[in-house]
Amino acid sequence: MKKYTIVSREDNYSNTIKEKMMQEFKDDFLYDETSPEIVITVGGDGTVLKAVHQYIDYLDTVSFIGFHTGTLGFLTDYDENELDCFIEGMKHEQFNSYTRNLVECTTGKQHYLALNELRFENSIKTQIFEVYVNDEYLETFRGSGLCISSSSGSTAYNKTLGGAVVLSNLSIMQLTEIQGISNNAYRSLNAPLILDKTQTIRIHNPKHQQVVLGYDHLVDSQFSFDDAYINISDKCAHFLQIKKVSLIDRLRKSFI
Ligand code: NAD
Repeated sequence: MKKYTIVSREDNYSNTIKEKMMQEFKDDFLYDETSPEIVITVGGDGTVLKAVHQYIDYLDTVSFIGFHTGTLGFLTDYDENELDCFIEGMKHEQFNSYTRNLVECTTGKQHYLALNELRFENSIKTQIFEVYVNDEYLETFRGSGLCISSSSGSTAYNKTLGGAVVLSNLSIMQLTEIQGISNNAYRSLNAPLILDKTQTIRIHNPKHQQVVLGYDHLVDSQFSFDDAYINISDKCAHFLQIKKVSLIDRLRKSFI
């Protein structure tokens, strides 16, 4: 029997759906929060992020599948009208697996992984960053910060910053500016930059300013570093899909 768990957003409705699923799966799967093979999330995109970070050390052996109980999500594929087909699909293991790449940040002593994005933010003082790609100098950025998004995160914070929406799980990362200053004295690219797996972004922090590092829904509010290296991680999150999902349809319903 496959081992599974359910991570709920913990509101009443999500907990009701969770209980219904547990009742339905009791003869087919073994409920195991410690070492599940399948993690079902019930809630929204934030619940998926929470679950991925909860099982971040087990990404090689765990697969995620998202059921949403709020408005349409990008990391969740099924809603309440599809509960019966979701349960049947799960019971009969009628699913395909696909992967979502993560982005990672390493400094000398710290390591952070994100499914959506990494954000280096300073909303109080002008933040100065020297940006290098594979150790080649690109620019000196001044502004509120920088965001490095994965393909999965392209529809989240990245989109708010004017980054491109990526319509597949391409192994890319996207660098966007958070309120960059662009005038005759200070100039940076001021456009989204898309990089692949062969490229590493190095962010040098010449004034040793303390920033807020956001990684998905999580935050290190006193992040100090001289150099942070950002890559597409070798680690990825495995997801299950019972039905085919049209990303165009989702984009239209969510944004247009
Ligand atoms: P949350 O879980 O309440 O999510 C905030 C919103 O972002 C929700 O509407 C959620 O559906 C959406 N979202 C999350 N991941 C998405 C994705 N991959 N594609 C499209 N929409 C997505 O908030 P939280 O727990 O504080 O943060 C989680 C995520 O929220 C962050 O990773 C960030 O991308 C996003 N966020 C966006 C902004 C912004 O656009 N200004 C600000 C803060 C957080």
